[in-house]
Parts: sequence; C-alpha cells; structure tokens
Amino acid sequence: MPSKGGVELKLKEIRCKKCNKLIGKIKGIAEIKCPRCATVNTVNDR
Ligand SMILES: [Zn+2]
Repeated sequence: MPSKGGVELKLKEIRCKKCNKLIGKIKGIAEIKCPRCATVNTVNDR
C-alpha cells in the first residue's frame, strides 16, 4: 500500500461570509451560524 503521509478526508474550512471568522470545517452540505455576528452561512462543498 502506498503511503501518502496525509489524511484522505479533506475538510473545507468555512469562514463567515460577513465577518470572515473561521466557524468550522465541514465536508458536504452544512448550515453554520456564526457565533460572532449570527449570520447563517449555508455551505455546499460538493
Ligand atoms: Zn460572522
């Protein structure tokens, strides 16, 4: 088995579209409410 030395699961860093705060890392579809400015960020990483 080849060793890539990395993680297969790629998580996308999600930043708030309004205040640019890093609010999480997701894969797929998510809806994350920013704890700072309460903007709901809908993310589609597919
Ligand atoms: Zn925000």
